[in-house]
Amino acid sequence: MSVRGIGIRSAGPDFLDPDIEAACADADPEVFFPEGSSHELAAALAEDRYCRPCPYYRRCRQWALAQTEDLYGIWAGTTKEQRRHLRRTRPRALVTP
Ligand code: SF4
Repeated sequence: MSVRGIGIRSAGPDFLDPDIEAACADADPEVFFPEGSSHELAAALAEDRYCRPCPYYRRCRQWALAQTEDLYGIWAGTTKEQRRHLRRTRPRALVTP
């Protein structure tokens, strides 16, 4: 998320560079904080539109997976439930290459 968006999250990412804007900087917050039950679809759409082209994609995903408490919202195209699943099944995803 953008530097401007950090304030609405319970934990701010530490990977952001003030000189490089995240692709989601001006995105509608509803894209990353969807209401209702279609979070996986929302995550897939957010990933396609914002996250894959984002310069922080890899760092954002690793950061989100490394958080010890569940983060609210979509990070790097993943939902909270998807991140939980990845932590359990693919612990190597937490390793920075
Ligand atoms: S990867 Fe997605 S959620 Fe993460 S900073 Fe980039 S656009 Fe935002």
